[in-house]
Amino acid sequence: MITVQGKGVSAGVGMGPLYFYQRAKTTVTRYTVTDAEAEWARFKAAQATAIEQLGALAEKARADAGDEAAMLFETHQMMAEDLDYEEAIEGLIKEEKQNAEAAVDDTAAQFAEMFAAMDDSYMQARAADVKDVSRRILGILSGTVEGGIASEVPVLLAADDLAPSETVQLDKSKILGFITAGGSGSSHTAILARTMGIPAIVGVGDQLKPEYEGRFVIADGGTGAVIIDPDDDTRARMEKKREEQLRLQRLLETLKGQENITRDGKTIRIYCNIGSPEDVHAVLTNDGGGIGLFRSEFLYLNSADYPTEDEQFEAYKKVLSDMGDREVIIRTCDIGADKQIDYFDLPKEENPAMGLRALRISLTRPDFFRTQLRALYRASAYGHLGIMFPMVTSVWEVREAKKMCEAVKAELKKEGIPYSDHVQVGIMIETPAAAVMSDRLAYEVDFFSCGTNDLTQYTLACDRQNNDLGRFYDPHHPAVLRLLKMVADNAHRAGIWMGICGELGADLELTETFLAIGVDELSVTPRSVLPLRNAVRMTDTRESAQRILDELAADHHRI
Ligand code: PEP
Ligand code: MG
Repeated sequence: MITVQGKGVSAGVGMGPLYFYQRAKTTVTRYTVTDAEAEWARFKAAQATAIEQLGALAEKARADAGDEAAMLFETHQMMAEDLDYEEAIEGLIKEEKQNAEAAVDDTAAQFAEMFAAMDDSYMQARAADVKDVSRRILGILSGTVEGGIASEVPVLLAADDLAPSETVQLDKSKILGFITAGGSGSSHTAILARTMGIPAIVGVGDQLKPEYEGRFVIADGGTGAVIIDPDDDTRARMEKKREEQLRLQRLLETLKGQENITRDGKTIRIYCNIGSPEDVHAVLTNDGGGIGLFRSEFLYLNSADYPTEDEQFEAYKKVLSDMGDREVIIRTCDIGADKQIDYFDLPKEENPAMGLRALRISLTRPDFFRTQLRALYRASAYGHLGIMFPMVTSVWEVREAKKMCEAVKAELKKEGIPYSDHVQVGIMIETPAAAVMSDRLAYEVDFFSCGTNDLTQYTLACDRQNNDLGRFYDPHHPAVLRLLKMVADNAHRAGIWMGICGELGADLELTETFLAIGVDELSVTPRSVLPLRNAVRMTDTRESAQRILDELAADHHRI
């Protein structure tokens, strides 16, 4: 038994014979042309065919993996007719007298290199896309047929890397999983694998040797482990894991498009937490009702300097437009404590968790705050936006933050820049002070979202970063649950909604409690949406609500 480790990018266990992907080799012939116009026409004809083929692939992807996968090929269509790309090829053919194949090959290499050199990992992954589109055009020019699987039985497919078009063209019934030497979690192949529900592992490097071909292999897309020639115990254990996952997955799949409704007809919104625009696909795949927490600080963490207003605007706009009319709540920058960034030049603190962090930074650096708010309000014209402030303790902080929002809106209006008048403004309740003052705070904002990770830390005086605290850090503690109940009651008294966006929201042991308390929204990682929906649909609050509330009041709840 040999185990090699990669990065799991699409969960699930695949087991079967290993097969190396056969790629049709396109050798690029190079020669000087005399009739450049005729050569240009030859390229244009191949380009038109490629665009047509990509249209057909988009339809296949739509049927196999949904709209998002189809969009990928529509993007490839755009790439194939991109003006810069076309002009570069035209220059090589008409000025350098290169043949079409050489011109496409050189341009592809140049564009791929340019994408690969970009800082943003999403843009880096686009290098594979431009190569993919160009390979298609080259194939058409040289009359090469596409590669594929020559196996009759389903296999675990290994490759150095797989282009998205190769992935979608494969016969899905023959694929038990993907294992690639290169690739990243944000590559389109990984995205497609997740959308099609096929286990996938990337980045195994050269650990998969050609002599493993045909041997029995297990790929665990959750852990990233690839096991070659597993022993009987491992095989039995993994078979059990796979069956369990398949059973659960089948059940959960039937819940897509269904309501989050209890047996007695109570509904609750289930939204998602995300950290970057690329996470939206997971929200949509898992049928999240909206985004309850976009941790905007990840834009700052992924950047070498403060992201500009335009950079932020583009990121927010992308999330809002991709989410269509579903609600998107973006939290303003929550830096400090465990999330430190050098270029912020924050003073060294004895107790960073209780220091200058989150909204405290925004209020002490008005220009920094203003830049983010301008980007947010500009993006609000493209979807259904809510803005929320982290780490609130006092009413005056909220009033000052709202004043900044008003000032930014007035600026945009004066500049003739569109923004939505329907942006909800809310706060995170993640300090005991905010929970205790929630009766007053509720009249200042449109919603509350409880950050139970921090609320537990501050209420129980227990560092959330310190693993040694073990059971002392207990989000089920009645002090935390009582605060949540108090916040929900105060919110409802003032006519606003209350949600939970900390990890606790996805804790199925507490779903009944949250329903009893009257929580309006739970925002969880995308993968938790369907299990949570399942739990909500199994609950009958007529049976549990009063008992849970009594226990909470009497302190019997896990005291
Ligand atoms: C929380 O504190 O519960 C929360 C959602 O915010 P973060 O985990 O980003 O601090
Ligand atoms: Mg927090």
